[in-house]
Amino acid sequence: MAVRQAAFEQGKQRISDAELSKRLTLAKKDPERAWLGEVSSVVLQQALADLNTAYRNFFQSVAGKRRGAPVAPPRFRSRKDSRQSIRFTRNARFAVTAGRKLRLPKVGELKVAWSRELPSDPSSVTVTRDSAGRFFASFVIITDDQALPPTEAEVGIDLGLATFAVLSDGTTITSARFLRQAERRLANAARNLSRKQKGSSNRAKARVKVARAHARVADARRDWAHKHSTRIICDNQAVYVEDLCIKGLARTRLAKSVHDAGWGMFVRMLEQKAARYGRAFGRVNRWFPSTRLCSACGVVGEAKPLHVREWTCACGVTHDRDLNAARNILAAGRAERLNACGGTVSPAA
Ligand SMILES: [Zn+2]
Repeated sequence: MAVRQAAFEQGKQRISDAELSKRLTLAKKDPERAWLGEVSSVVLQQALADLNTAYRNFFQSVAGKRRGAPVAPPRFRSRKDSRQSIRFTRNARFAVTAGRKLRLPKVGELKVAWSRELPSDPSSVTVTRDSAGRFFASFVIITDDQALPPTEAEVGIDLGLATFAVLSDGTTITSARFLRQAERRLANAARNLSRKQKGSSNRAKARVKVARAHARVADARRDWAHKHSTRIICDNQAVYVEDLCIKGLARTRLAKSVHDAGWGMFVRMLEQKAARYGRAFGRVNRWFPSTRLCSACGVVGEAKPLHVREWTCACGVTHDRDLNAARNILAAGRAERLNACGGTVSPAA
């Protein structure tokens, strides 16, 4: 990494992989860096490969050849970072033993609490330790996903603050109570930590508690998001959501970043599962007044302040604010999809 950075500063873009590899072997002979020899060499090669990817992304981003948010140059890792991870490939000869233990080179056999059966032979395994001191093993496995049986239903989703999400079919998804409890515990632990003296052992203990609480919130939120996203994908042939960047424009300070994180993950899960199970997924990109537009007659009413939960259009239809928005998202998503497919959007006869 240091070598790479120096090369970058000197204006050279690349050092060959072979050259880096050679320097790594030399580094192992340096007594201060002898710890490099304590791990499997495959792990070090994988770290170099990751560094390569990080630099490639960074260079392409700088050159404007990469879509999405700008990518920062890679940063140094430390053996003291709270989150650590290593990856073993097949070359490293890791194995799942007959006794259902995980055997890793230069580490030994590890007892594993399996969260599920491995459907086939994994091509690599990544072992991570999170800031709460827990170890995880994730396996890369190639599977052929099977499309779910087709269904007629399509759905638009309005992500909200009062309720987590409202679906155009009338379903509402509220944040689970256990999640709010976990979030409260996290806030307590954080307050506790801030009261402890710097450098004290009580502070160290409090820090672990905060990390544990964080991990619990993250786990609970992920499980919960998996459950709901899976059900939505199973029940619907097409799923449309409002683009979150656009959502951000209309958002006040009231909306905490907690919500943003939850939405982002939820939407990503929907997108991935849609791709996996042969469903359509669409972000409604175009700005349109999803709350002011009457989903029954198409007339755009006046602006509605946030506390207005229900309103009646001039056409006589009374709308729930979020449900109306979800229906508009469904209609807009359908229209965009038809356009993209080369079809025409024709006015209702
Ligand atoms: Zn109307």
